[in-house]
Amino acid sequence: MAPNRRAFLISTAGALATAGLPAAAPAANQKARMPASAALKNLMDGNVRFVTGHTVSHPTVAGVRELASGQSPFAIVLACADSRVPVETLFDHEPGDIFVVRLAGNFVSDAALGSIEYAAAVLKSPLVMVLGHTSCGAVQAAVDGVQTGKKFPGHIQILADAIEPAAKAVEHEHGDWVHNAVIENVRLNVRKLKESQPIMAEAVKARELEVVGAVYDLRTGAVQLV
Ligand SMILES: [Zn+2]
Repeated sequence: MAPNRRAFLISTAGALATAGLPAAAPAANQKARMPASAALKNLMDGNVRFVTGHTVSHPTVAGVRELASGQSPFAIVLACADSRVPVETLFDHEPGDIFVVRLAGNFVSDAALGSIEYAAAVLKSPLVMVLGHTSCGAVQAAVDGVQTGKKFPGHIQILADAIEPAAKAVEHEHGDWVHNAVIENVRLNVRKLKESQPIMAEAVKARELEVVGAVYDLRTGAVQLV
């Protein structure tokens, strides 16, 4: 482990409730020490490269091998499972850069929260982005449920139920109901992460972690903060 990273870990060890958590392997990727503002710039600059066709990321087996001893992702992204939202691709980054949690509707389930807490508290990622996207089928399902009382088979109803508060919150707003609900769902889950006790809320309070929300546009490839 690099001396400066060891010092960083020692300096922050007492601030988070990490007792009992598995220790992180030594970091191969040194980007994790960047401040949250730089991490966000890193993501957004990568998205600009993606949109403009100037990508620089080319994952290789050699790069993968360098990461085999440990990871130190500079950002955590909670995104939809939709096949059209490939997180590393749309941010023009490589394996080891982004800790990605994906599930349909990009909401904070218990398992998603545990994953994010691990990346924040153990891997020391300084930034979480909740990333919704336009024309999200899970959000559409939630809106359909509110609008018509429609129920979905199997465990799909769990998704609609989780996003229902966002759908209801914007029911009477002007504009497209589904699009407004996509944005509201991102904002509600950003708030949920910031207020989640004990790990997330304490890390945010200690200014070790920032949580932001954004929406990915399927038509343009652009990510916009919301
Ligand atoms: Zn979706």
